[in-house]
Amino acid sequence: MSDKAIALVTGASRGIGRAVAERLANDGFRVIGTATSENGAASIREALQAIDADNDAVVLNIADAEQTNEALKSFLTDFGTPAVIVNNAGITRDNLFLRMSDDEWGDVINTNLSGVFRVCKIMVKPMIKQKAGTIINISSIIGTTGNAGQTNYGAAKAGLEGFTRSLAQEIASRNITVNCVAPGFIQTDMTDILPEAQKEAILATIPVKRLGQVEEIAGTVAFLASSDAKYITGQTIHVNGGMNMG
Ligand code: NAP
Repeated sequence: MSDKAIALVTGASRGIGRAVAERLANDGFRVIGTATSENGAASIREALQAIDADNDAVVLNIADAEQTNEALKSFLTDFGTPAVIVNNAGITRDNLFLRMSDDEWGDVINTNLSGVFRVCKIMVKPMIKQKAGTIINISSIIGTTGNAGQTNYGAAKAGLEGFTRSLAQEIASRNITVNCVAPGFIQTDMTDILPEAQKEAILATIPVKRLGQVEEIAGTVAFLASSDAKYITGQTIHVNGGMNMG
């Protein structure tokens, strides 16, 4: 049995979540990453066990309340209470408001906002018992600035930041911090699908003149997960190349 602190990273099959999982594993956490499929979990396991055989992966679909409940109860039995939770899993279903369907709205709210509620609902109680913990929610610059075509995503991410501040107030006295990291435009599958013209337009608005790299988000998450950040709670840390300086 490993005596390392446990870190749960949702959506670790690719993109930001994969980089966060690898960074925390390299920083000495026992990292358990999640994917929505067995194949995804196998690929996370292979990557993380190349760092340390203690790391592992599980299947988790935060959009499905019942599956989340079962998967995280098994998680607690198999691995114990996490010291760090990174709620990274998220989706986009972009459309202009007048064309946005109930499903596009509902899928994004259900995954990006209610999914985080579900994970915290199961994990906060054992964290309180453990009298320690750090929850890091991956928000987005869009939660602050808004973006045409993303009313669903903007609402979910702004909601996530409000959720974070409220939960932080409830459990600060229990030695648990809750913060958000809000990336700008980071090079991942999520942004690779954007039309070239839209990417050019976005680049023109980023003072550092490039998209961010996943490792740059992982570095900020690693700081919040470290003991150097113990006095930081209820905050949203923006990592966006100066795209929004407010
Ligand atoms: P990505 O490459 O599309 O990866 C998304 C991850 O979330 C995958 O691991 C996926 O798992 C997982 N996921 C999707 N639906 C899920 C569900 N229902 N239950 C559990 N896991 C689920 O995304 P990314 O760009 O790395 O983004 C990661 C986070 O950063 C998201 O919260 C996103 O909103 C936020 N963010 C990204 C950017 C950016 O520019 N990329 C900017 C701001 C914020 P599967 O592989 O199994 O589908």
